[in-house]
Amino acid sequence: EQHRVIMDETAIRRALTRIAHEIVEKNKGIDNCVIVGIRTRGIYLAQRIAEQIREIEGRPVEVQELDITQYRDDREKGSAERPAAGSSVGVKDKRVILFDDVLYTGRTIRAAMDALMDLGRPQAIQLAVLVDRGHRELPIRPDYVGKNVPTSKQEQIEVSLQEVDENDQVTIIH
Ligand code: 5GP
Ligand code: MG
Repeated sequence: EQHRVIMDETAIRRALTRIAHEIVEKNKGIDNCVIVGIRTRGIYLAQRIAEQIREIEGRPVEVQELDITQYRDDREKGSAERPAAGSSVGVKDKRVILFDDVLYTGRTIRAAMDALMDLGRPQAIQLAVLVDRGHRELPIRPDYVGKNVPTSKQEQIEVSLQEVDENDQVTIIH
């Protein structure tokens, strides 16, 4: 098993800074925007992006958390129950920017969109990811990408973030 560093702390910081600027540009500011982080590491990325946007725009942008475990289509569905995906999430008529660490088949994002729709109809949903590793199984593409990393299905991306890991680093394991 080999680890190869594909983003170090500086690369991650620069990618997030770029994405923050892209979000502000695409949305012509941050009016009505909410950054929604997908547990676990998407939440920390969402918080970092929000901090950068606050520095760029001089005012705060809302951050929320989403746990879509119950919405995954590859989990067994027990008696049609779908517990609210983080009851505090208010997205009705908002421009939602979903943030996740790694985009792969797209099934997590499909589930996240399903969860968001159940919580109220957003005005728009955009997708930001730190790493797009390819192999989509659904027609989903990100609006904002930290780094495109072509992978084989056997390879794994490891995302380490200071908030929960020792350091900021993205490695590919093969
Ligand atoms: P998907 O649902 O698109 O197949 O997979 C994306 C979700 O699974 C994300 O929430 C992501 O955290 C996780 N994931 C999929 N592949 C990888 C990977 O190679 N590395 C990491 N760290 N997470 C992955
Ligand atoms: Mg994840």
